[in-house]
Amino acid sequence: MPHSQDTPLAELLPPLSEHEALVEANRCLFCYDAPCTHACPTHIDVPRFIKKISTGNTLGSARTILEANLLGATCARVCPVEELCEGACVLGAEHKPITIGRLQRYSMDFVYGGDVQVFGPVRATGKKVAVVGAGAAGLACAGELARRGHAVVLFEKRELAGGLSTYGIIGLREPVAVAQAEIEMIRRLGVEIRNGVELCRDVALADLQAQFDAVFISVGLGGAPALGIPGEEHIVDGLEYIEQSKMDAGMLRVGRRAAVIGAGNTAIDCATVAKRLGAEEVTIVYRRSESEVSAYRHEMEFVRKEGVDFCFLAQPVKVHAPEDRVTALECLRMSLGAVDTSGRPAPVAVAGSEFVLAVDQVIKAIGQQKPPLAQALGLKTQRGYIDVNAEFETSARNVFAGGDCIRASGVCSTVMAVQDGKLAARAIEKRLGS
Ligand SMILES: Cc1cc2nc3c(=O)[nH]c(=O)nc-3n(C[C@H](O)[C@H](O)[C@H](O)COP(=O)(O)OP(=O)(O)OC[C@H]3O[C@@H](n4cnc5c(N)ncnc54)[C@H](O)[C@@H]3O)c2cc1C
Ligand code: SF4
Repeated sequence: MPHSQDTPLAELLPPLSEHEALVEANRCLFCYDAPCTHACPTHIDVPRFIKKISTGNTLGSARTILEANLLGATCARVCPVEELCEGACVLGAEHKPITIGRLQRYSMDFVYGGDVQVFGPVRATGKKVAVVGAGAAGLACAGELARRGHAVVLFEKRELAGGLSTYGIIGLREPVAVAQAEIEMIRRLGVEIRNGVELCRDVALADLQAQFDAVFISVGLGGAPALGIPGEEHIVDGLEYIEQSKMDAGMLRVGRRAAVIGAGNTAIDCATVAKRLGAEEVTIVYRRSESEVSAYRHEMEFVRKEGVDFCFLAQPVKVHAPEDRVTALECLRMSLGAVDTSGRPAPVAVAGSEFVLAVDQVIKAIGQQKPPLAQALGLKTQRGYIDVNAEFETSARNVFAGGDCIRASGVCSTVMAVQDGKLAARAIEKRLGS
């Protein structure tokens, strides 16, 4: 896969050369009952794929990865490997862990860079499945079903498939071309993708139930919630900000001094984009302390190295925008109180502690709302998320769901969504009796 580092948001890490991949693969101890495989949510047989790289069998290595995880190219780039496979590597205790993500990318680049076919044609079963939402969960589910000969139609409301991999994860980690190459592979498995079709607007769940043997819903989450503060209309939505940085960075308005509200990975990504696209000062404003941020440690270190500042224990209360020009973000100092329902100490306002940050752009990156369709579909919900049983089946028979839209715990990742899609496909196949 081509790699270009000539723009500030181009993929951060270069690919491994063949020599580097062989040297790295030969460091692997090929553990029996390997902890990295257990730590991977899709349980890729990591020592097996690395062994194949070390013997020059890159296609075999790619097949091992794709058997467990059809979105191996995306996951190789976006997985928080420090917390997953690489974090579990036994070499990590004394030496450097094997760079599993980069080796996985090496094998996947071999497939997509060379337009290599990994899976051959299969016999049609005559069963039809509708998948709604072409993000990681929907693509994985659709691909797994197609690989087993089922006819799959994937309905996606947006112009491009890929969900957050296409529109939401910054180009530094995953370029749009990587997500689109994977989508092409899913198409070639036989999946028909119908873009521009929205469930509940263009098609009803009852229609899909009538036309297909099973339905899988993977619609992700909603937009960012409102802050409810004066001047909110001048705040830029963080997900739209990232989307534009991926689709048309030249048209993105970047402030000279930007404040980013929130401290999860969307906030880290927005701050990185702003800084790399020329903002002189970028400050992440968070109402709790550093111990409560939901971003990973390595993300915090990264963004600090990028030159981003933090303002902890500060709650935005007003955007100052005389004549529609943002000039400041007014905040209140907070202290930490008793533990609240989120399991973290609640931020408590310190009376009379108002202060202003002089900024000319305010970006909101406070996470996504619960899936807006959960109620509208008339399915049973849990804390606002679609409720499923152990087989990923919703309260409606033969209607399954997976990915962020079922994740009531609030902890989401691409590789978890891929695993949901894969397991749901197996459950659907069992139900279809083929
Ligand atoms: C800014 C950001 C950065 C992230 N970075 C990382 C990261 O580095 N690593 C990581 O592992 N995870 C990351 N995540 C989380 C990860 O992107 C998600 O967990 C993952 O994309 C979930 O996949 P999904 O298929 O459930 O949902 P999505 O990717 O959101 O896909 C849902 C799809 O459904 C479509 N859809 C919605 N409603 C309808 C409808 N009514 N009809 C038809 N289609 C519909 C949407 O258009 C979309 O294509 C990040 C998330 C964000 C917001
Ligand atoms: S899918 Fe992610 S967690 Fe699993 S082995 Fe690959 S990089 Fe590691």
